[in-house]
Amino acid sequence: MTEPTPAQLQPLPDDWQRALAVVAHPDDLEYGCSAAIAAWTDAGREVAYVLASRGEAGIDTVDPATCGPLREREQRAGAAAVGVRTVEFLDHRDGVIEYGIGLRRDIAAAIRRHRPELVVTLNHRDTWGGVAWNTPDHVAVGRATLDAAGDAGNRWIFPELTERGLAPWNGVRWVAVAGSSTPTHAVDASAGLERAVASLLEHRAYIEALTDEDPEAYARGFLTSTAEATGQRFGGRPAVAFELFSR
Ligand SMILES: [Zn+2]
Repeated sequence: MTEPTPAQLQPLPDDWQRALAVVAHPDDLEYGCSAAIAAWTDAGREVAYVLASRGEAGIDTVDPATCGPLREREQRAGAAAVGVRTVEFLDHRDGVIEYGIGLRRDIAAAIRRHRPELVVTLNHRDTWGGVAWNTPDHVAVGRATLDAAGDAGNRWIFPELTERGLAPWNGVRWVAVAGSSTPTHAVDASAGLERAVASLLEHRAYIEALTDEDPEAYARGFLTSTAEATGQRFGGRPAVAFELFSR
C-alpha cells in the first residue's frame, strides 16, 4: 500500500498591494511566515505589523518590566530584516489576552488605519494539529482578527472608531492564517528563507532562553524543515503555508 499523496496547496492570491499582519507576540510572525513577508516586500507590497502584546511574559528569567522593551526591540529588528518598517503594539497583557469586544475593537481600528486587502494572523485553532495544544493568546488574537476583518467594514459595530476619524474599511478580501494544521494555500519561500532566518535570529534573547542549541542553527533548522515539509505540497519548492479565508 502507498501513502495517499496529500492535496497540493494553491498559490496565495497576489493581486493586492497592502497587507496587515496581526499577532499576539513578538516572534509569532518570525516563526510563522516571515519568508512570505520577505517575498511580498521584495515585490513592492506594503506590509505592517500589529502585535497585541509586547511578549513581556515570554522569558522565564527576565521580569516583564525589562522583558517588554527588550522584546519590542527584537521585534522591530526582526521586522526590518524582511523589509517591514511599521510595527505597532496594542498593549494587551501577554499571557492573558482576552478574546472579546475590546480586542476586536482594537484590531478593527488597526485595520481601518492601514486599509489592507490581505490580513495575516497566526493559528486561531485549539491545537497545532493532533494533540499539540495552542496558547490562549494565539487563539484569542487569531479569532478576533478573523472577526475584526468584518467589524472594520461595518460603520455601526464600533461607531466610536468613526468618531475618532477612522472611516470604515470594507476592503479586506482575505484573512490568511499561518501555522494552521489545515492549510489551503502557500507562498514560495525560496527567495525569502535566508531573511526569514535572520528575522527569527533577531529574537536572540528569547531563543537563548529557550534552547541550548546555537541560535542560528536553531532558527535555520526550524524554518528550513518547516518550509521543506510544506514544499512537499507545493511542487517541491520550500514554502510557507496559510489557511485562507476569503471575504
Ligand atoms: Zn506567540
